[in-house]
Amino acid sequence: MNYYSTRDTERKTAKTSAEVIKQGIADDGGLFMPESIPSIDLDYIKGLCDKTYIERAAEVLSLYLTDYTKEELAKAASAAYAEDKFIGGAAPVVALGESVRVLELWHGPTCAFKDMALQIMPRLLSMALDKTGEKRQAVILVATSGDTGKAALEGYCDVERVKICVFYPNDGVSDMQKLQMASQKGDNVYVCAINGNFDDAQTGVKKIFSDKAIADELDAKGYFLSSANSINWGRLAPQIVYYISAYCDLVKSGDIKLGEEIDVAVPTGNFGNIFAAYLAKRMGLPVRKLVCASNKNNILTDFLETGTYDRNREFYTTMSPSMDILISSNLERLLYCVAGAEKTRAYMAALSSDGKYTVEPEVFAEIKKNFTGLYSDEEKTARTIKSIFDKYSYIVDPHTAVGIGAALDAYNNDGVKVVTASTASPYKFPYDVIKSLGEEASDNAFECLDKLSALTSTEIPAPLARLKSAEVRFKETVGKDTAELWAAAERFITK
Ligand SMILES: *Cc1c(COP(=O)(O)O)cnc(C)c1O
Repeated sequence: MNYYSTRDTERKTAKTSAEVIKQGIADDGGLFMPESIPSIDLDYIKGLCDKTYIERAAEVLSLYLTDYTKEELAKAASAAYAEDKFIGGAAPVVALGESVRVLELWHGPTCAFKDMALQIMPRLLSMALDKTGEKRQAVILVATSGDTGKAALEGYCDVERVKICVFYPNDGVSDMQKLQMASQKGDNVYVCAINGNFDDAQTGVKKIFSDKAIADELDAKGYFLSSANSINWGRLAPQIVYYISAYCDLVKSGDIKLGEEIDVAVPTGNFGNIFAAYLAKRMGLPVRKLVCASNKNNILTDFLETGTYDRNREFYTTMSPSMDILISSNLERLLYCVAGAEKTRAYMAALSSDGKYTVEPEVFAEIKKNFTGLYSDEEKTARTIKSIFDKYSYIVDPHTAVGIGAALDAYNNDGVKVVTASTASPYKFPYDVIKSLGEEASDNAFECLDKLSALTSTEIPAPLARLKSAEVRFKETVGKDTAELWAAAERFITK
């Protein structure tokens, strides 16, 4: 399987999956995509039903990462999704009433769904360095709106031949997320706050990635840059697995019949997780509609309504910070699938110069065939948290609530089950969850953890409970200019 940039109109730059996992973003600024989407049929799905999550992961990944051996993939999956890492299973499905099925993706070490990809990707990268004869060390640069940063730090911590630098917006992440990152252990990690929002952080990191002088300087010192953001194919591929796995679990439990269609609702920011669901559908998983759920930053809802993506709008800070995003980078992959490289290149040029683009009617029609866009503002998100708890004694975080809100809105009583991605443990956002339940919440994050536990009779996940005694290692804040970001990163890399 070869990979090409979404902006490569002549398909000149064929790469292997190991190469694209190593490189992250393409030289032309585009994102890597496989040359074709492998297909699976009902027999294949049936065969996966009796397998463990680890086996399902190795199987599905082998369809895309054809330059890795099955043994290598099995080894990476076994290490990544081991039971002691994902307490209670890697991706269990919980039923809420008739229609909604919650796919819990937050049982990993950082209590958020990004662990699903970031526990396996470092292992794939480390294998990729050997496979490609790479002599240099990798420097992972991450811009995070909260959960990616910690999940990447956990995934890469003390991985040999890799250093990792994480930038997060000072006012765009929860106290708990800050503490999780600032207390990260490991000799190869660095964490830095910036005075700006997530898009500032992401723009800065993207600029560093495309700066030739920086690349040359690093090369001379024996380093190269690589990304762990959801633009990296190594992040996306593992996310396809859990949609297929959830389908298998529903078949296995008799909740659906093999071949029966489901809908999938995904709380969306960068469009990575939902794009993985789209790929699962394109592969042949019986999915009818993909429900793209947004918070108050509903740029994707508007795009799916009008065909115009327009980032010239106000940016809101919400209680679902990992979705506070105005540039959904992975949407580029969908545009490429539907419209091809030439148009994608033009859309992205327009987005960069005017902050907006409009897709042609036939492109829009094709997108609309697969996607529905819905959103929840803050009040609605809070109402969903409370009503789901009142009705089912089931507690969800604000991101998941945005997804469930959309899932319920999309459900039209035709019996098609809506699998909703649950992307974070409620304990990652205890303050907002308690408030949403109509209770008083303390400003102290740890008091919130205890209170949420008492209110809901559920247990605080161990990785969060442990934070109470964690030492803060990283306290630096820099301005949002690219030069300042790079100066901070460089000090760390060369120290
Ligand atoms: C990252 C994240 C999302 C959004 O996922 P995308 O792949 O960026 O769309 C949703 N919820 C949580 C908790 C996240 O961490």
